[in-house]
Amino acid sequence: MGARLDPPLKDDCDVAVIGGSLAGSAAAYALARNGARVIVLEKARFPRDKVCGCFLSNEALPVLGRMGLREELGRNAAETITRFRLVRRDGIAVESLLPKPAMSISRSCLDSLAAAAAERAGARMHFGTTVLSLEGDLQEGFRIKGLNCEVGARAVLGAWGRYSPLDGRLGRTFIRRKSFLFGFGKMLVGRSEHLAGRAVLHFFDGGYVGLSRVEGGHVNLAALANSHVAQSAHHDFDSLLDRLSRESPALAADLEALSPLTGPVLLSEPVHLGAHGALAGDVLCVGDAAGVIDPYTGTGMALALLFGEAAAAPVAAFLAGTLDVDGLKRAHLRRHREIAGRRFFFSRLFRPFFSGGVASRLIHPAAAPLARWAARATRE
Ligand SMILES: Cc1cc2nc3c(=O)[nH]c(=O)nc-3n(C[C@H](O)[C@H](O)[C@H](O)COP(=O)(O)OP(=O)(O)OC[C@H]3O[C@@H](n4cnc5c(N)ncnc54)[C@H](O)[C@@H]3O)c2cc1C
Repeated sequence: MGARLDPPLKDDCDVAVIGGSLAGSAAAYALARNGARVIVLEKARFPRDKVCGCFLSNEALPVLGRMGLREELGRNAAETITRFRLVRRDGIAVESLLPKPAMSISRSCLDSLAAAAAERAGARMHFGTTVLSLEGDLQEGFRIKGLNCEVGARAVLGAWGRYSPLDGRLGRTFIRRKSFLFGFGKMLVGRSEHLAGRAVLHFFDGGYVGLSRVEGGHVNLAALANSHVAQSAHHDFDSLLDRLSRESPALAADLEALSPLTGPVLLSEPVHLGAHGALAGDVLCVGDAAGVIDPYTGTGMALALLFGEAAAAPVAAFLAGTLDVDGLKRAHLRRHREIAGRRFFFSRLFRPFFSGGVASRLIHPAAAPLARWAARATRE
């Protein structure tokens, strides 16, 4: 069967949101509830898989509650996660309680729920719609163009995630950073009782493999590797996983009774850690488009939801004429600072322990209080 062809979209709105995943849907939900005419342009068709650890930290739950999704998480049998476990390649491990219980749910399920909530609130969702360019500004308005769309908007929210060719077209400088990471993942099925209620990170030289049980007892595997590891594996991440399992009996034991649910590994867009900037010209960026927190913290999704939601109020004030362009941009940057807080600082501080280098060898059962403190510090 050929690709589905949608009729071309030609429309105007108050706010165009580029990217309809967590940050985009949370923003669209809050704006539509405020009465704004919102169009969301999302290149994928949901449900779709995504490279992510699927660990939904506690701070995400109130936002999902406000979107009417708390019961949906239960109905979809999301796993409750109360413990985390860090495992060295030699099998030495530290396990600790999380500061607050988290949840684990596949991105195919969670992102679909969030997008459906935004649609119920009145946002118009357009899937299979890739934005290729945009021009304009907050004074004159924007024109957004894709293969099958042309949309006019007074404001644009950039919710396109950790990397998009749009970043280059908007002249964003973070893409020039030489060091970026490779993310890959897959969904596994089989006996998973040993992973019940816990998120597990297995370290190797140059990265880590995360395991977390999601709905249906499936196990989500998400890994991050530096460019040296990726290149030496010739970007063949299936073979890399085989090698890592041979080198780490603990990882092999965790994976022993599991097999892939679907085809080959899923690859992530390049992962440039750190701040990307909450403004790209006059585009208001939210979620990973504004900055990528270290995935080991398990807080990227929570930050995407929190910032997406928080971005709505200043935009609504701008649309109502009570905030001018400069006021909107200042308010947007302030919200980002408030939500990011010291998390980016702490996630960078603890990065050496999670990058699979020498510092990772300090992981030891005696370090459990430190691990608990790190888990708290990257969440406040
Ligand atoms: C290996 C790895 C493990 C991780 N594990 C965790 C974890 O366990 N817990 C956690 O909280 N976070 C984790 N994260 C981080 C988390 O995945 C992100 O923080 C989160 O997905 C950010 O959400 P977002 O909505 O900002 O962006 P995304 O979820 O990336 O969504 C962006 C959306 O924009 C769409 N898009 C992109 N370009 C265009 C375009 N031009 N036109 C239209 N649409 C476009 C994409 O299709 C996508 O749906 C992990 C990340 C990695 C790499």
